[in-house]
Amino acid sequence: MTRLFVSDLHLDGSAPEAGDQFIAFLRGEARAARVLYILGDLFESWVGDDDDDAERRRICVALADYTAGGTPCFVMHGNRDFLLGREFAARTGCHLIPDPVVTDIEGVRTLLAHGDLFCTDDVKYQELRTIVRDPAWQQRLLALPLATRKLLADEARAGSRAHTRRTIPEIMDVNPQAIEVAVRTCAVDVVIHGHTHRQGVHEFAVDGRSRTRLVLGAWYDQGSVIEWDESGYRLRALPRG
Ligand code: MN
Repeated sequence: MTRLFVSDLHLDGSAPEAGDQFIAFLRGEARAARVLYILGDLFESWVGDDDDDAERRRICVALADYTAGGTPCFVMHGNRDFLLGREFAARTGCHLIPDPVVTDIEGVRTLLAHGDLFCTDDVKYQELRTIVRDPAWQQRLLALPLATRKLLADEARAGSRAHTRRTIPEIMDVNPQAIEVAVRTCAVDVVIHGHTHRQGVHEFAVDGRSRTRLVLGAWYDQGSVIEWDESGYRLRALPRG
């Protein structure tokens, strides 16, 4: 049976078409899958499990329906929704998994990651990542009132857009050495990640052995999915109807 991988849906009330497409995906082809992996940035923002936003609630209900149908769904934190927590998992029936994580897919040792970890050329971003992934920092943030956290999230998104505008594109892509180190350390043949929104398949060699990096695209204008079954993997765009 097929394993499905998606990432970078960036679901948000300002663009409900992406949410509609994801819900149709859950009710459609994802139903027949053996497992669904969401490799980060399912949501454009997540300010805590007490988030009462209507669009995010709608997505959580669809995920709960999906997992109630018996298909496991694994969710990894992205740089937008790193505050997804235990309550979210309980409400949706999803399982939160660490970033990165090694798994076996059809006998292939594979590293799953959101992808920002590999963008080591963007030093400013990595400094920020270290701060926001710190559990103590997250606890202090979560202790603030919901309205305050929403304001902070808006500001953080504006700051992130400004940084993206100022930074040259190559710096925001993955660093080849970082990938190589991860491949060697984790002894994997395949890496699957998102974050850069540069959907593609990259073949390369590490220590004389050929490896593959599969990059999922974002769901801004269309969907992006990897399906992997006994006949191999396919990376597909999902046109929006
Ligand atoms: Mn990301």
